[in-house]
Amino acid sequence: MQIQTVLGPIGLDELGRTLMHEHLFIAFAGAEFDPTAVFDREAFIAEAARRLRQLRVEHGVRSFVDPCPIELGRDAAMMAEIAERSEMNVVCTTGFYFEAMGLPVYWRARTAEEIAELYIREITHGIGRTGVRAGAIKVATGAPAITPLEAKFLEAACIAQRATGVPIITHTQDGVCGPEQQEAFRSNGVELHRCLIGHCCGNADPAYHRRVAEGGSYIGFDRIGLTRFQPDDVRADNLVRLVRAGYRASIMMSQDRHCGWLGKLARQVTAEEQARIDQLKASGDWPPPYTYLFTDFVPMLRQRGLSDSEIFSMLEDNPRRFFAGEPLPLPNM
Ligand SMILES: [Zn+2]
Repeated sequence: MQIQTVLGPIGLDELGRTLMHEHLFIAFAGAEFDPTAVFDREAFIAEAARRLRQLRVEHGVRSFVDPCPIELGRDAAMMAEIAERSEMNVVCTTGFYFEAMGLPVYWRARTAEEIAELYIREITHGIGRTGVRAGAIKVATGAPAITPLEAKFLEAACIAQRATGVPIITHTQDGVCGPEQQEAFRSNGVELHRCLIGHCCGNADPAYHRRVAEGGSYIGFDRIGLTRFQPDDVRADNLVRLVRAGYRASIMMSQDRHCGWLGKLARQVTAEEQARIDQLKASGDWPPPYTYLFTDFVPMLRQRGLSDSEIFSMLEDNPRRFFAGEPLPLPNM
């Protein structure tokens, strides 16, 4: 059993402490036309490598999964360079984003089988001419419902999953449609323990989390620190609730952060937000570092009574079991 990183395959025992949903670099389509968008590739690679090294040295993280959608500036060669310099295992994915913010016109016109052909190629041969192979599949849906177009891309992901055996990592929008994604995976013949339903912490309702966990997938509390979507106190309360309900083995903790992007943000920021960003820039904390989960969120879990062995089991045992494709243990085991 091997896991494909951007520098080649590693064994399961090399995975170690893993962040399952982070990003290095993002570029929304069109940013390349912005005359104000300047990007110094060399400087970015150096800074990204510095940040990953810090994660590894200070917090013992050995693997970093970047499920960057294909059309959001995914740059496999750059990921490989950063992995090499930081000595971090970096795993990238194949798969497109959701309809409202992605899905290139050319691929909208393709059948699920044609899309799957691309995904399978990227998993078994490599991305473009880079030789870098994807180690997982990205699926994304919007809100409030999965669109017919998104359902086609989801079906393609299922064809590729069944053909290759690599797991699926999803994006959900506004904390909805997790159960609908599960239903679609089930009806397309994908085992639910091969799927990580992402961004479930965007929903504040513990009943929603229970429903996703009971459905038999992994559940992403993977926007830790993104308080624009949810306060971290709510995340921590809900995460501990799920652990106490016996679902520790299903929870994946991550932050959905990135350390660089092309041009401006994909939305207009308010004057208040800009002031906060300028403040963080002045202190060298912009974009916010990947270490937040360890420096700020882990203490919140400890305060709520979780032991270090419970906390680090979620960051080590769960990613390993997910990639291995082992069945999820029953609750409370
Ligand atoms: Zn993401």
